[in-house]
Amino acid sequence: MTDGAWHADVAVIGAGPAGCSAALWLSEMGLTVALVEQTGRLLARLDDLQLTQNWVLGAPAASTADLAQRYAAHVQMQPGIRIALGEAIAQARRSASGGWQLVTAAGQGIDAHAVVVATGLRALTFGACSGPAAPLDAQRLASQRAHWPAGRFLLLGGGDNAVENAVYLARAGHVVTLWSRGPLRAQRYLVTQLASFPSHRLRLRVGQPMPERLVSRADGEGHAWQVQSAAHGAESFDHVAVLFGNVPDATVLHLLAQAAGSVDALPGAGVFVAGDLSGRWHPSIATAIADGADTAKKLQHWLEHAPARLIPAAAGTPAPERDAGLRILSLTGLRFAANLGILDHERANPQPIEVSVELNLGQQPLAPPDDHILHVLDYRKVRQIIIDECTAEHVNLLETLVGKLCTRLLQLPGVQGVRAKITKLEIFDDCEVAIRMEAGLW
Ligand SMILES: Cc1cc2nc3c(=O)[nH]c(=O)nc-3n(C[C@H](O)[C@H](O)[C@H](O)COP(=O)(O)OP(=O)(O)OC[C@H]3O[C@@H](n4cnc5c(N)ncnc54)[C@H](O)[C@@H]3O)c2cc1C
Repeated sequence: MTDGAWHADVAVIGAGPAGCSAALWLSEMGLTVALVEQTGRLLARLDDLQLTQNWVLGAPAASTADLAQRYAAHVQMQPGIRIALGEAIAQARRSASGGWQLVTAAGQGIDAHAVVVATGLRALTFGACSGPAAPLDAQRLASQRAHWPAGRFLLLGGGDNAVENAVYLARAGHVVTLWSRGPLRAQRYLVTQLASFPSHRLRLRVGQPMPERLVSRADGEGHAWQVQSAAHGAESFDHVAVLFGNVPDATVLHLLAQAAGSVDALPGAGVFVAGDLSGRWHPSIATAIADGADTAKKLQHWLEHAPARLIPAAAGTPAPERDAGLRILSLTGLRFAANLGILDHERANPQPIEVSVELNLGQQPLAPPDDHILHVLDYRKVRQIIIDECTAEHVNLLETLVGKLCTRLLQLPGVQGVRAKITKLEIFDDCEVAIRMEAGLW
């Protein structure tokens, strides 16, 4: 164990859609998760995109930023997930017990039995650049393109991203040069749109060697670009974007492979890959989320078949921690009237009952990561759910009502176990009658 380290069943590296989806599923399976993200936000890449799209089932015309915020809120309120933002994994080694000891660049240790690597893709860059500014990549271009005044754009690349941006920018009134070293590889419906612009708005350089040099220089509050090539000499542009596509960001994976001995040894050592990093043919939000869920199931299976020493912690009893503990939410003595019972007067009228519940929220940091209601289970909602569930319809038996209530409460995010007691307060003059039920993990 590392001093001051966080202890979790699983460390998930990268909080994009894949990492967040894996963390959510793992915590729902009763495992504790340390979710590590190098930027200061969950779902940062998605949040920055600001695109509108139609292919998330059930969310037509969804903006990627809205999706990012919804996904982040869900993960933040999920008990069992401890989040480290602004932390990049810098070191990895095997622990004596066969697990993993990770250390972030800022020195935070994370001890875990297994690791999910969901670090996504990184953009390919252009080597021959100099000056104070870097060319735009696809991510920055997508997040900023709606806000620039009309200017001269140079786009390097010939895939979907380059052609879609050329069409978007030309349509928005910019003067665009699209420069591809080979034939355009973009989808046909995008390429055909290029023909609708006059050549003074959109210049095509297809099958031409790349420029020799891109030089940026400070220009007012921004930067201007000088572009040098054998075919066109020196040219000036207001913006240059390099859209050569992406490759897997395997830095963390390589660190883990070094510690495990080889890449092939990783699956046996409890390292799983999720999302774009796993080389999806069509990298997307939907495939990344699905991959996160799939990886969580594989990992659960691996833990259940791992050497015996791993199993107790995987079953939810991690080593004692000084900065974490078992969180239990309890509501005691909630009184209201419900339609319950088999006697005639019970069928005719509601009767007073008292409900007490305890919800096992699993291992949690001693205090939430911040003091925000979104990051915990809201007990006002729990109270209302209890009343709604118990008053929705008439049931004959107290046992039925307790069972229904337990089932409903177990569906709440992060709830691992439920203890519920329902008391009929006025059924007899000389005593109360109650049924108590314990369900899920305790
Ligand atoms: C310009 C652009 C437009 C796109 N448009 C769409 C679209 O409209 N619809 C759609 O479905 N998909 C779109 N995508 C694709 C989509 O964004 C990805 O497929 C999806 O985000 C992949 O999810 P992921 O979790 O695998 O990786 P990512 O979302 O890339 O997340 C990986 C995370 O890992 C973090 N990370 C990396 N290294 C470390 C480290 N060492 N330590 C800690 N954290 C680390 C990163 O900061 C990042 O937050 C677009 C992509 C781009 C680039």
